[in-house]
Amino acid sequence: MANVYAAGAMPMNKRTFIRLFASLLASPVISPLLAWASKIKLKNWAGNLEYSTDRLYSANSLEQVQSYVKKQSKLKVLGTRHCFNNIADSTHNLLSMKSMDEVVALEPEAHTVTVTAGMTYGQLCPHLHSKGFALHNLASLPHISITGACSTATHGSGEKNGNLATAVSALEIVTAAGEVVKLSRQQDGEAFLGAVVGLGSLGVITKIALDIQPAYLMRQYVYESLPLSELKDHFDAIQSSGYSVSLFTDWQNQRISEVWIKSRVEEVHAFDATPEFFGAKRATKNLHPISELSAENCTEQMGVLGPWYERLPHFRMGFTPSAGKELQSEYFVPRQNGVEAILAVERLRDQVSPHLMISEIRTIAADNLWLSPCYEQACVSIHFTWKQDWRAVRKLLPVIEKELAPFKARPHWGKLFTMSPAELKSIYKRLPDFIRLSKKYDPKGKFRNEFLSMNVFSS
Ligand SMILES: Cc1cc2nc3c(=O)[nH]c(=O)nc-3n(C[C@H](O)[C@H](O)[C@H](O)COP(=O)(O)OP(=O)(O)OC[C@H]3O[C@@H](n4cnc5c(N)ncnc54)[C@H](O)[C@@H]3O)c2cc1C
Repeated sequence: MANVYAAGAMPMNKRTFIRLFASLLASPVISPLLAWASKIKLKNWAGNLEYSTDRLYSANSLEQVQSYVKKQSKLKVLGTRHCFNNIADSTHNLLSMKSMDEVVALEPEAHTVTVTAGMTYGQLCPHLHSKGFALHNLASLPHISITGACSTATHGSGEKNGNLATAVSALEIVTAAGEVVKLSRQQDGEAFLGAVVGLGSLGVITKIALDIQPAYLMRQYVYESLPLSELKDHFDAIQSSGYSVSLFTDWQNQRISEVWIKSRVEEVHAFDATPEFFGAKRATKNLHPISELSAENCTEQMGVLGPWYERLPHFRMGFTPSAGKELQSEYFVPRQNGVEAILAVERLRDQVSPHLMISEIRTIAADNLWLSPCYEQACVSIHFTWKQDWRAVRKLLPVIEKELAPFKARPHWGKLFTMSPAELKSIYKRLPDFIRLSKKYDPKGKFRNEFLSMNVFSS
C-alpha cells in the first residue's frame, strides 16, 4: 500500500491563514488559532495536504507548552508546514510554535546560538550575520522553521557539509508527561544523536541550539548545459568545485541544464569562474532553476559578493519561493553510487519528464544522527519537483524507487515516497533504537500520528 498521503486539493487561502496567524498569536494564553466553525481548511505550504484537524493552538512560552501537552491525549507540532507528506498531520490537535521565535543566547565562546523552536532560518540568519556569525549551510529556501527542518534532516549541498541537523548542539524538549528534558551533544551521547532527527516523535522541542562560525562572504556562479558525459567522467571534480554545488536537470537531451556553484571567498582554492566549465557555459544573467522562469525570486548570481545567508539558499527571503503548485520527492544514495544512480534515473527520462518541473542533485557529508539519510554514509541526493498531479506521481514513485533500490536509496522524511515500512526498516538500521528512545519520552504515543505509526512504529 502506498505510504504517502496527499489529500484532494482545495485551494488554500494563504493570505487569510497568515492574517489569522498574525492577529491571534499575540494572545497571552494558549489560544485556538482557527475557529472550528470556520470554512478555512488548514493546509500545508504546497496545498496538496489538508490537515486532518483544524484544532490549531499556539503557545507563547515553555509553561504554556507544558500545560497544553499535559492536557492533551494526542497532538502534533506544526512547523512552517513545508513537508509534502502527512508527517506533521494530526487527527486530534496541532500546536504551533510560530510565536516562540526569539534568540535566547548567542555564545561566541561556545560557538552556539540558542533559539526558541518557532524561529525560521530567514529570521535567524540576518541577526546572526549582524553579530558577525554564520551557520555552516542552508536549504534551498530560508522560509522553513529551524526545528521542523532539523527534525526531518533537511539539507543543502556541499561535499564537506553535513545536513542542517548536524549543526544542532542541544535540544530542550517537553515530553508526553509535560516534563522538560535537555539533551546535548556534549553530555548525552547516543540519546542526543537519536533525538535530533526526531520526526516530531519525542515531544515538543521548545529550544534548539546550533553551532555557529564567523560570518563569511560568498559568490554564486551558474553554468548552463553541462553534458551528461562530462558529469559521468568528472562527478567528483564538479561537486567539489565549490563549497556548495547544485545540479539542475529536466533529464532531457543528455545534459544538466544548470550547475549552481556557491563558493566562500576566503577558501584557499576559491572557485575560478572560467567562461567554460566541463563543457558548460557561464550564464550571462541570473537564472531560475527552471530556466524559463523569472529569476527575480532567486538569490544573486553572476559572482556578486554577498553574505552567506543570501547565497546559500537558491530563493530569497520575502519572495514566493517556487513556481507555484508542486510536489516534491527526494532520494539519498551512498556517495560512491551517485553517478550510477543518476544514470539509472536518466534512463527513466521518458516516464519522469512529463510530470517533472525540475530535478536537483546535491551532495551531503556523512553524519552520526540515527534517522538521518546520511547516517554513516556520505550521500548524493536526487530530488524531484513534480507538477501537482498526485495520481501520476504516485504511480511513478515506485518505478523510481525500484530503480534506486540496488543502492539502498533512503527517502527524504518530509517529501513524498511510497516505500513500505519494511523497506524503511531495512535501510534505517537505527530504527529499533529510535523506537526505544521515543517510547522513553512518549510511552503511550501522544506525539504519534498516522505517518509515524505506519513508517516508524510498525517496524
Ligand atoms: C519549496 C520547498 C523547498 C524545500 N527545500 C528543501 C531543501 O533544499 N532541502 C531539504 O532537505 N528539504 C527541503 N524542503 C523540505 C523541508 O525542508 C522539510 O519538509 C522541513 O521539514 C520543513 O520544515 P517545516 O517546519 O515546514 O516542517 P513541518 O512540515 O511543519 O513539520 C515537519 C516535522 O517537524 C516536526 N516539528 C516541527 N516543529 C517541531 C517542534 N517544535 N517540536 C517537535 N517537532 C516539530 C513536525 O511535527 C513534523 O514532524 C523544501 C520544502 C519546500 C516546500
